[in-house]
Amino acid sequence: MAKLVYIVSDRRAGSTLLQNLLDQIPGMVSVGELRMLQGHLKQEGPGESWAWQCSCRQDLISCPVWSKIHDLVDLKNRRTRLDHSLFESHRVNESLQRYALEGQMVAEDSLKILDAVRKITKAQTVVDSSKDPMQAYYLHAQRPESVRLIFLERSIDELAYSKIKHREGRVPGPLRMWAYLNRVGRQNRSIREVVDRVEADHVHRLTYKALAIDPRDELRKILEFLSFDPIPEQLPDSLEPQNDHSIGGTPSRFQSSPVRYDDKSAAYFRKYPPLSYLTKKWQTA
Ligand SMILES: [Zn+2]
Repeated sequence: MAKLVYIVSDRRAGSTLLQNLLDQIPGMVSVGELRMLQGHLKQEGPGESWAWQCSCRQDLISCPVWSKIHDLVDLKNRRTRLDHSLFESHRVNESLQRYALEGQMVAEDSLKILDAVRKITKAQTVVDSSKDPMQAYYLHAQRPESVRLIFLERSIDELAYSKIKHREGRVPGPLRMWAYLNRVGRQNRSIREVVDRVEADHVHRLTYKALAIDPRDELRKILEFLSFDPIPEQLPDSLEPQNDHSIGGTPSRFQSSPVRYDDKSAAYFRKYPPLSYLTKKWQTA
C-alpha cells in the first residue's frame, strides 16, 4: 500500500484541485505543496496574496494541524531548503547527477515531515502536491516500497493559454502564443523525461481534462492504483476547503466550487488553424 503520494505536474495543470479532492477521501490527507513550507513559516516569498495561510485560514503556527507537526519536527530548523528547485529542465541528465546528494537530503527532510503528518493525522496515505519532478524522483528513490507518484498532465495548448493569461491578465496574439507554446512544450517533455525514469508501475498518469470531466472516475482509478482500502462508495466531485490543511497551490483552494472542465483555450486556438496544427505536432512530439 502506498503511504506517501507525490503529485508531479507543471504549473496550472490542476494539482491544487487534485490534491484537494484526494484530501476529502477518508484516510487520506494532503499537505499541499510541502516545498512552500519555509516561505509559509517565515511569511516571505510566494503566498503573500493569501498571507501564507493554511487552507483553514490560519497561519501555520496557529493551525491545529501544522502546530502539532511543528511540535513533532522542528520545522524551522532543517538542513535543506525544500523550495530549492533541483530541476533544470534543459538538462535533465546533468541535473540528476549534480543534485544527487542534495536531492537525497531534501527527500529525507520531506519524509520526516510527511511521516509526522501521517502519525498525527493517522492517515493511511499522505499526499504532497509539490509538483517538482526531481523531488518526486529522489523521494521515490528513498522509499520505493511506499512512495507512489501521480503524474498529472495537461495539453500544452491549455497550459500555455492558462499560464499566459494568469501571468499577464490577457491572451496575446498567435506569434507570442507560439513562443509560449514552445517553452511549455519543452518543459513538459523534461518533466516526462524524469518521470519516465521511475518504475512504470509506481507512477499513475492522468490528464487534467479527464479529471475535470469525471473527477469521481479518475479518483477511483487513483485509489485502485494505490491499493487504497476501502474505496468509499461516494467520491468527491467538488473543491471543498473544509477540513483542508494544505499550503501553496492556487487561491481557488479557499473557496468551494464544483469541478468544471475549462476549455476556453479551444475557442482561441480555433481562430488560428496553423497554430492549432503546430500545437498538435508539438503535443505528439
Ligand atoms: Zn490549517
